[in-house]
Amino acid sequence: MQKIEKILISNRGEIASRIIKTCKRLQIKTVAIYSEADSNYSFVKEAEEAISLIGSESKETYLNIEKIISIARQTKCDAIHPGYGFLSENSNFAEEVEKAGLIFIGPHHSAIFAMGDKVESRKKMKSINVPVVPGFDGIVSSDTQLLEEAKKIGFPVMIKASAGGGGRGMRKVFSEKEFFTDLESARREAKNFFSNDSVFIEKYIVNPRHIEVQIFGDTKGNVIHLYDRDCSIQRRNQKVVEEAPAPNISDKTRNEIYNTAISAGKCINYTNAGTVEFVMDENENFYFLEMNTRLQVEHPVTEMITGLDLVELQIRISEGFSIYEILPDGKVPEIRGSAIELRICAEEGLIDSKPSSGNIRYLNFSENEGARFDSGVITGNNVSIYYDSMIAKLISYSESRNTTIERAMTNLKALIILGLPTNHLLLDKILSHSEFREGKVNTGFLEKYIHPSNTKNDILFYLSICAVIHSIKIHDLMGRAFSEIHFEPKILDKCYVSDSFEIKNTLKIKHENIVYSIYKENDIFYITHDNEKYHYVLPKISLLNENNILLENGEKIYFCKYGLNIYLQNNCIKETFQILTESNSSKSKNSGNIQSSMPGKIISIHVKKGDTVNEGDPLISIESMKMENIIRAEINAKVEDIFFSVNNQINTEETLMILKNI
Ligand code: ADP
Ligand code: ADP
Ligand code: MG
Repeated sequence: MQKIEKILISNRGEIASRIIKTCKRLQIKTVAIYSEADSNYSFVKEAEEAISLIGSESKETYLNIEKIISIARQTKCDAIHPGYGFLSENSNFAEEVEKAGLIFIGPHHSAIFAMGDKVESRKKMKSINVPVVPGFDGIVSSDTQLLEEAKKIGFPVMIKASAGGGGRGMRKVFSEKEFFTDLESARREAKNFFSNDSVFIEKYIVNPRHIEVQIFGDTKGNVIHLYDRDCSIQRRNQKVVEEAPAPNISDKTRNEIYNTAISAGKCINYTNAGTVEFVMDENENFYFLEMNTRLQVEHPVTEMITGLDLVELQIRISEGFSIYEILPDGKVPEIRGSAIELRICAEEGLIDSKPSSGNIRYLNFSENEGARFDSGVITGNNVSIYYDSMIAKLISYSESRNTTIERAMTNLKALIILGLPTNHLLLDKILSHSEFREGKVNTGFLEKYIHPSNTKNDILFYLSICAVIHSIKIHDLMGRAFSEIHFEPKILDKCYVSDSFEIKNTLKIKHENIVYSIYKENDIFYITHDNEKYHYVLPKISLLNENNILLENGEKIYFCKYGLNIYLQNNCIKETFQILTESNSSKSKNSGNIQSSMPGKIISIHVKKGDTVNEGDPLISIESMKMENIIRAEINAKVEDIFFSVNNQINTEETLMILKNI
């Protein structure tokens, strides 16, 4: 038995913060390591010690085995917690940690090795009569032979990387003629991500459910299960929403799947936390997919329904305790209630989304009953392109599944993230769908039920709100107070702003590449674009504070003004607007609003307000993806306004300065 007193966390973001939370409660000291891109993340401040690593790429930082172990030794840690992703399933890392005389908080490296390769783990499972997805995992001498095997299995098939993970290196193939192209691309992706291009073939089970079982083993040979999770809501084979327990499964099947998971664990002498994943067809036949030998992203839903802290269990097992010594009253708790986790991702687009990057201009979560918010980010953090796009997890819990879904919807609306796009709308559509509500989920859910809607959000309403926000100039981005209209927060409740301001000139506002012209006369907003003219009467609104507008019906709209950009969030709808200045209306080159086409950081500003610049003069230097870009004047002009300072993070399409033609 070795008491663990200090842990190095070899991970970042949400999961690093999560692990620190438990360590604080257990009075265990923590050491964080962080890359340059993560230097202002909250986990860096939360840990007792934080050591910076040179670089931002994963391979120089969170994947640098030698460096991580040497930091753990220098800071006198007893143990390393790998979190999930990165090195958590790297048996070589686990072995090196042990060799350095440290405890690896996870299973023995031999178990990671045994389950790390999907082909090997399939074979192992077959040997103990666990049903695996029908497929071919033998050795062939040519791709043509592999095609023959695929034909024997029968299309559709799934080509999978043996070393795969995170939904990568996997291709569905529907017919013979696509086989070679898909094989090649699966191999290429596998080589890229896992430096190993060996693949195998499985029968593609059409629209199965993804059901997994949380297990725990200890060094005394005990293996227990902590129930199941349904992770069927997936996109590109990656989980989006997870819940525990899985809805609509018979008790008989549930018991069978628990026993199967336990025997899988026992056959490799499994210790610590692990997850056995299965696909399940309509008739509740289940097949082994893979085993993840680590803490899972979705572990909080299991914590909510058991009342256990899985990170604590991991630590205590690593210290040598038996699982029964750790569990309250020495036994596995009964399931209580139902829990749902939403993965909050920085991404653009509903289904065919791509990761987005940029600075979080405002983040707020107002906690409701049964809510748990596991976040890796706070206001001001920069979401970089270097890592996963998942920035936080929102977990909701109650006694019943229906109430949990209601809570999840309320919680999602109460999570405000301004400055960059997130998957709020996708999650909201999932939670509101009747099939989801009835628990009729499978991995084809998103494709079948979730489509971009054509109904345009109430754009006139938002444009009018933007006009109000802009015209009263609440404060500018650097906190310089504007004097024109100064609101005291106390008076704000009573101040209906829609009556009390005038737009002096016509305002031009850009939204999704459409420019709207807007002016207000009496109580009516006149909005035009493309020769169409609308008029709109804005309902009474009151300004609560610099980020918050209250509607008459009691709803709140959150906003944040940055330079000339206005970010809005109304429940799960998020929109970005850009105020165009008078000088920008001219068609000439880059007169007007100077913007960066990429998110980045301001390195230097070469001019000051009032300066006259000539064509070709440098204006601002920006560091973006490690490259320095100089934005230059394309005309002779006067610098009318500058909205940012050196070291500020900037987002795509935020106006940095305004030039005026001379
Ligand atoms: P799970 O079943 O836990 O979702 P995955 O196979 O999807 O398992 O792998 C975990 C996911 O976590 C991967 O998508 C990986 O890209 C992602 N990931 C790894 N490290 C981090 C991290 N530090 N922060 C956020 N996401 C991460
Ligand atoms: P990863 O290691 O990337 O998590 P998995 O083998 O766990 O890979 O598969 C990820 C997801 O892909 C599964 O949850 C499932 O939705 C889908 N999938 C994998 N194999 C099959 C299959 N043979 N038939 C149908 N769907 C599959
Ligand atoms: Mg998996």
